[in-house]
Amino acid sequence: MLPKPQYDVLIIGGGIIGTAALHTLARRGLRVGLAERGVLAQGCTAYSGGIVRVFHTDPHLSELAAASYPVYRDFEAHVGESCSFTQTGFLYFPTAGAELAAREQVAQLAPRVHMEWWEAEQVRTAYPHVRTDSPAIHEPGGGYMIPSEVARAFGRSARRLGACIHEGTVVNKLVRAGGRYVGVETSHGVLFADRVVVALGPNTPLFLDQHQVPHALWTQRIQVDIRKSSTPRGAHPAWIDDVNDLNGRPHEDDGFLIGYPTHDRRFHDGPVHGISSHSSVIDAIGSSRFNWLQTTERQGSYASFDCYSDGGLGVADFVDDARSLAVVTGFSGGAFKLAPELARRISNLLTEK
Ligand SMILES: Cc1cc2nc3c(=O)[nH]c(=O)nc-3n(C[C@H](O)[C@H](O)[C@H](O)COP(=O)(O)OP(=O)(O)OC[C@H]3O[C@@H](n4cnc5c(N)ncnc54)[C@H](O)[C@@H]3O)c2cc1C
Repeated sequence: MLPKPQYDVLIIGGGIIGTAALHTLARRGLRVGLAERGVLAQGCTAYSGGIVRVFHTDPHLSELAAASYPVYRDFEAHVGESCSFTQTGFLYFPTAGAELAAREQVAQLAPRVHMEWWEAEQVRTAYPHVRTDSPAIHEPGGGYMIPSEVARAFGRSARRLGACIHEGTVVNKLVRAGGRYVGVETSHGVLFADRVVVALGPNTPLFLDQHQVPHALWTQRIQVDIRKSSTPRGAHPAWIDDVNDLNGRPHEDDGFLIGYPTHDRRFHDGPVHGISSHSSVIDAIGSSRFNWLQTTERQGSYASFDCYSDGGLGVADFVDDARSLAVVTGFSGGAFKLAPELARRISNLLTEK
């Protein structure tokens, strides 16, 4: 006979998704645990730009972001811990083919979220350093947070609510009995739970493969270059540029972070670095969007894998018939801003009778 499970839910992975889910479940009074192989927020959450915005080309993702946004804007009231939100405004540059649908979505979202459709001239007037001949979406309330701080804050709050966080605990294997997943084998012994949630970010596809759990996820390496300006930068929005496949935001001390999804899908579980050929791509295509790029200096670059899925729609659901194993990941370089609502939705599924 199996021992009585010590947890109603055990979460594997202490990134932004695992910690947000832990906090939500602990608030609902569940006996909840989390196993993290290192310390909280050491995975791709540590490398995230933390851009928070609502508009996405897919309405489902916009819904997730719209529901998450108030949590981040008023973090202390929702989580009981303080985390700063830097409001920079946000610009989204759609591809020409996506303009019509994007405009329709702005009209739908605008009553709930402060969001404007700007013609090219409006963009250039508000931000003279932006080069554009086509429209963009402007979200004055967009900005960024520091994702590792946010994840640790979710963790602290969850602990106070009774959750147990097992750091330095590598999960090696899922444990099955009687047609259900009933726990995990770890570097410190077996943890038993009624239900298990896999929130391993870019480690998820490999982990699911090892347990013969079917999925449609993959990984991609994202590179971020750090640029510094020798003159004061002035106001600059965070941005996603789907025309040029770049994104970024202001960074401390008159700098910028510029992110580039590298198309490199060869997952490597360990530190990855920025590559100079990708920095050259960033310089070339970034210069066509921003006139400051040639006058700033590259001060370094870093990279991390994230977990991807078709259309970035991800998965936040059970993956077995017994509804004992759930997976939350696959939001294609964008899960930070969605995490509060993903946590709420997966918690709803886990607490459904
Ligand atoms: C460079 C970059 C920039 C980004 N910028 C943004 C942005 O601006 N805005 C936005 O919304 N999103 C952004 N994202 C996406 C977002 O940050 C990620 O989707 C999100 O952080 C993923 O969190 P996670 O919890 O799923 O994964 P992770 O943070 O990777 O957490 C998974 C955890 O599992 C642990 N783990 C792995 N294997 C095991 C094991 N066997 N046992 C126990 N623990 C294990 C890891 O140590 C890790 O802590 C960015 C991503 C990257 C890479």
